[in-house]
Amino acid sequence: MKIGIVGTGYVGLPSGVGFAELGHDVVCIDAVGEKIDALNAGKLTLFEDGLEELFQKNRAAGKIRFTTSMKEGVENADIVILAVGTPPHPETKEADMKYVHAAARELAQYLTGYTVVADKSTVPVGTGDDVERLIRSVSPDADFDVVSLPEFLREGFAVHDFFNPDRIIVGANTERAKDVVKKLYEPFGDKAKMLFVNRKSSETIKYASNAFLAMKIHYINEMADFCEKAGADVFEVAQGMGLDTRIGNKFLNPGPGYGGSCFPKDTNAMAQMAKKYGVRMNLIETTIRENDARKVKMAHRILDAVKTVGKPRVAVLGLAFKGGTDDCRESPAMEIVAELLKSGAVIRAYDPKAMGTAEKILGDKIEYASDAYDAADGADVVAVLTEWSDFKTLDLVKLKQKAKSPELVDLRRIINKKDAEKAGFSYRGIGE
Ligand code: NAD
Repeated sequence: MKIGIVGTGYVGLPSGVGFAELGHDVVCIDAVGEKIDALNAGKLTLFEDGLEELFQKNRAAGKIRFTTSMKEGVENADIVILAVGTPPHPETKEADMKYVHAAARELAQYLTGYTVVADKSTVPVGTGDDVERLIRSVSPDADFDVVSLPEFLREGFAVHDFFNPDRIIVGANTERAKDVVKKLYEPFGDKAKMLFVNRKSSETIKYASNAFLAMKIHYINEMADFCEKAGADVFEVAQGMGLDTRIGNKFLNPGPGYGGSCFPKDTNAMAQMAKKYGVRMNLIETTIRENDARKVKMAHRILDAVKTVGKPRVAVLGLAFKGGTDDCRESPAMEIVAELLKSGAVIRAYDPKAMGTAEKILGDKIEYASDAYDAADGADVVAVLTEWSDFKTLDLVKLKQKAKSPELVDLRRIINKKDAEKAGFSYRGIGE
């Protein structure tokens, strides 16, 4: 099949490479010329485990191409996938639909023959109708259907998740459109667990899922606070809860609060969208408020460890919103860093993959280290903010020798407390 993908970011690029690997002819379109130039020069514009090899292989085989020209990507395509951003509107917190609407208007001009326009961006309920109207207003005679094809990949595991999807949700209102999507995933064979629903249900499934996961994270974080006071250990509690198949053991890791480009924006968008329909989402609204407050509380937990130091030097380990990605959008680590800076702390940070993306946001407000030990050099406190597996295997004796004081605050609880104490650290985790 011929596929055009509009938007070559964290969703569009791994999906494009994945569809090329499945044997389709893929053209990735992006409005940002530098991104396309880099990709055409064989340079990936983001980090995802396992992406490099598949990208190079399919690029060399001519199965995937990159362009800024909507015409080139859309003309003759069987399916055009929208994977542009839907960031939160700065004031209303609703999903900002300007990129989706602009892309729909632009692609409408180049549709040839029957085409399915599939929306992979996370969008408010009813967007499929809007996109249909926009395309129709530009090209009244175009032969097309709009389907909702929400994306569930996890950053850091995008390639794995593309090839091993839990489910493929398809919101399609016509049989013709369903057949095209079935063909798209045909190479998966029986692995494609497809659920066909109406378009608005599909749009809702994405928000309902992300809001649920965000609430699950917040729940275990509250439980961690409780365990600290009550003398229980949240990891043991989570393990025990997770054995119940009705609960499941995923998303029960306590931490400094959820972040990233999806959960904060999608919970806010869900709450705002519900208000418009006169429905109050109390659980989601509480989760948003308390999760925001948690990041500030966590910064103060670090500062509490060095109360007696005037301008503490903080070694920050991890800036990405989670391990396995270079994405710092709404990263709890970045928000904790901002709060520490406000309190006069001096930060020296290290992240295995996100130094570049973090520097674009923080500039010269912090110092950038070459590794974890360099970050700890002369530190009054070492703070682990992202759950990189590299941090689980640090030489704690070496880390302690570099630091000025023995304070170690592990907001991900990935460092073994006994090992840390043996190395001379005064260890504070969470939820114990
Ligand atoms: P992103 O910001 O990384 O990428 C979006 C890309 O779209 C950018 O490169 C931008 O230049 C391009 N773009 C915007 N308007 C365009 C236009 N008119 N024509 C061509 N290109 C255009 O965003 P992302 O993280 O890939 O997210 C995309 C969508 O997928 C969002 O709605 C997001 O909520 C959803 N989603 C993201 C994830 C994730 O893990 N990042 C997971 C599931 C769903």
